[in-house]
Parts: sequence; C-alpha cells; structure tokens
Amino acid sequence: MYVHVPFCERVCPYCDFAVVAARSLGSAEESRYVDALLSELEARRAAFAGRSLASLYLGGGTPSLLRPPSIARIIAAVREAFAGGGPPEITLEVNPSTLERERLPGFREAGVDRVSVGIQSFDDEVLRRLGRAHRAEAGRGTLRACRDAGFGSVSIDLILAAPAQTLSRFERDLAEAVAFAPEHVSTYELTIEPGTPFATAAARGQLVRPADPDARERLAVSMIETAEARLGAAGFVRYELSNYAHPGFEAVHNRRYWERRPVLGLGVGAFSTDPPAPETPFGIRRSNRRELAAYLEAVAAGRSPEAGPGEALDARTSRAEAVFLALRTARGLDAADFAREFGGPPRRFHGAVIDELVSLGLLVEAARDGDLCLTARGRLLSDSVFERFV
Ligand code: SF4
Repeated sequence: MYVHVPFCERVCPYCDFAVVAARSLGSAEESRYVDALLSELEARRAAFAGRSLASLYLGGGTPSLLRPPSIARIIAAVREAFAGGGPPEITLEVNPSTLERERLPGFREAGVDRVSVGIQSFDDEVLRRLGRAHRAEAGRGTLRACRDAGFGSVSIDLILAAPAQTLSRFERDLAEAVAFAPEHVSTYELTIEPGTPFATAAARGQLVRPADPDARERLAVSMIETAEARLGAAGFVRYELSNYAHPGFEAVHNRRYWERRPVLGLGVGAFSTDPPAPETPFGIRRSNRRELAAYLEAVAAGRSPEAGPGEALDARTSRAEAVFLALRTARGLDAADFAREFGGPPRRFHGAVIDELVSLGLLVEAARDGDLCLTARGRLLSDSVFERFV
C-alpha cells in the first residue's frame, strides 16, 4: 500500500509530484486529510479482500509533517483492513527539519520501522541551488535523531547531476552518507520536468549545469559509476538501478513494484493497480486527482477521487512492463516466470529487440534458460534499452 501525503514545507522548483506548500500544517487540516485517507481505504478495500499486505509506504510530499497520532491512526486502520496483522515493512519518508526530528520517537511508537530520509546532499551550495528548505547540518541532525529514536533501517536519498554539483562534491556526499552507515541508499538523477520552475530556468539558460548535453551526460555517468564503486566498496549491493542496500535491507515496497504486484494507492495523486481478476487478468491501473481540494471534495461527497476511469491493462503493455521493470533489478528477468504469465518466453514476443540489444552489448541473454539482464553499459543506457521494449 502506498499512502500519499501532499504537504511540503515549501515546493522545490524541480518537483513534479502532487504537492502543496504548507509551512505549518494546522491540526484541523491534517485531520481532514487523514479522515479522507481512511474513508478512501474503506471504499477501496473490497478490491483487495482476502489479501495480506506486504508493505506500507507513507510517501509524499512530506508525510513526516503529519503528527505521530495521525500516522498511528493510518497504521491502525491499515492493520485492521487487512488480514494477517502485517505489514512487515512500514516506511515513512522524512525530510530534515527540527520539527520532524522531534517527532521521530513518536513515529517509531506509531509502528514505523523504516525511514527514508530526503538528504539529497550534504553540500549547502547544492541544497541552496536545488531550492531545498533544509541545509546540510539539519540533514546530519535528522540522521543522528533516527538512530537515537531506535530506527534500525535507515535509507538515505541522494541526488546527482544537480546544478552546481561537481563530481568531487558528489564524492563528498557519498563519503558522508557511507560514514553514517545507513542500511540503504538511493541515488536519483535530477530530471527537469516540464512545467516546473527548473524547466523555465533551463529554457532560459539560467540553470547552470554543464550547459552542453553531452558534457552533462558524461558527468552524470561518472557520478553513477562513482556511486556504484564507493557504495560497493562499503558493502552495499546495487540491487536496482538507483538503489543500494546491505544484504537483507532491500526495500520490500520497491521490490513489489518492480514485480508488478497489486498496489493500493491512497491520497492525492496516488496510483493503484487492482489485483488481476478473471475479466481483467492483468489488473486495472487507477490514478487519483492531483489537486488537494478536488480530492477532499470527492471523498467527502462519497464519490471516487479518481482522475478518470481506471485503465484495464492489456497483455502487450503488461509484457513490456514486465521486461523493463525486471531489467531495472540486478536479478533481471526470469524467463520462466515470464512464460508462466504470458504463455511464452520473452524471445517469442521481443526476439528482434533482444538480438539487437545483445549485439550492442547492452543486454545478456542466458544460453541455458533465456533469462535477461542488463550489462554495465546497458545500465548506463537503461532508458534507451527500455524504450525498445515498449
Ligand atoms: S520535498 Fe520532495 S516532495 Fe516536497 S516539494 Fe521538495 S522534492 Fe517535492
């Protein structure tokens, strides 16, 4: 289950998520949102009847802007809605701020057992240029507070290819992340999303990264290779393109997403995939409205907060997704699993593309069983590889 909390202290100029600025979140506004989430859960749970829950991910936005009793209410309702008492993994995204730091013990008491901290960088200049609300010292304080609160599973989010971020600055970020000894690290490349202030600045030539796209790409590639080397030397395994973990600390929530398992998404802008049913064997994809007022109004009126009719996934789309989501992972695509679901091995549907990518040195096809995996070069050019399967 994914629960989206749209509030952020301020909206970062590169952000494309469904968010609203809420410097301080009033308790009435907070309760209204949590009430809406629980009503939506009640309305949607029937589609997941009889299933147990593998993970609960509270993301955003900044879900740690909610007070611990609100997080406890959500977790209690989720536990009650699903059989089996779980979920075994409950993750909360936390942004560095004094307010949220003080709430960490309360979040732990509420049942959260994994925190994902939006550090992004330990470099104040990079944070300032990203328009982030926090500075490096706040990030360090929040990480220490996570340990003090007893969290044994901490993930650090780092950004790469940000304005003003040189390779040596990124190396310092990696070194500081490693020194903190988290269980998990995610490294995401900054993407310039259309319609954001960063897109406008980039179009005007005001976003100083390497201006030349080739130089930018070379820098991003160096950063990705450096992350793999430095984190690998510290014992982290790159189990997915952007994610590194010590063995046993891979995120359950992320894994289920790459395995295309059903997801119940609640809240503003949340995505869901209903479980397969006889008439919709690949499930139904749904997305909620992205505007907070419209979402709240719909739920309060007893209407669906979805942005449109759900889309029943077809075999062709599902096959392509099965390939490129599995190729994101170090394990790659299990050809036998694929054949069980789609009635034939990947080669039957994508033979020409597989041959082309293998000949370009981007993909490896195991001779024994037809399993597929990206090469090191394929990992660097993954977007181009994935496009070929769609
Ligand atoms: S903190 Fe994260 S979710 Fe919030 S505005 Fe910034 S990038 Fe978006």
